Amino acid sequence: MKIGVLALQGDFAEHISMLKKIGVETVEVRLPKHLDGVDGLIIPGGESTTIGKLAVIYELMEPLKEFGKSHAIWGTCAGAIFLSKDIGRDQPLLGLMDIKVQRNAFGRQVDSFETDLEIDELFKATGTEHPYHAVFIRAPIIESVGAKVKVLAALEDGRIIAAQEGKLLATSFHPELTGDTRFHEYFISLAS
Ligand code: GLN
Repeated sequence: MKIGVLALQGDFAEHISMLKKIGVETVEVRLPKHLDGVDGLIIPGGESTTIGKLAVIYELMEPLKEFGKSHAIWGTCAGAIFLSKDIGRDQPLLGLMDIKVQRNAFGRQVDSFETDLEIDELFKATGTEHPYHAVFIRAPIIESVGAKVKVLAALEDGRIIAAQEGKLLATSFHPELTGDTRFHEYFISLAS
């Protein structure tokens, strides 16, 4: 099992640390050839416009779209934006996941926050039941999901913040920043 982390911009190093913590082999993906032999890919948080522009420059758009047709991809925060089909404005998107996302939905940097989540699917998969502590940094929300998309988690007011479509996973928050490896374990189960 080898998991790639898109290493164009953002907090890819933190994802790599989490994967190492659970004993998974990792590779930093910067060029199309780095996808060879990779079983799943994480797209980190950062700035989705920058990640998109760099993906265009390094000719990664088509290889990533192709990869996503048959492999697991998990987008966190900016990565979730990049993975989505529609964000209501023009910037490079992979368009792999049938979700509509709103960028910066909670406001500016000062409106970043942390909260505890109940995520049944995750608790079932990992045999745990303590809440999942989630960090939101200039986070997007998932405004709506397509018919084949399963909602994994929502805030108390109903706003969707985690979803899954087959092997594709999108989270508004940053599971690489808390030391809780459960979401990474869940992703590995999708990739294997
Ligand atoms: N606001 C960023 C964007 O629109 C995402 C922030 C993040 O990844 N923490 O791309």
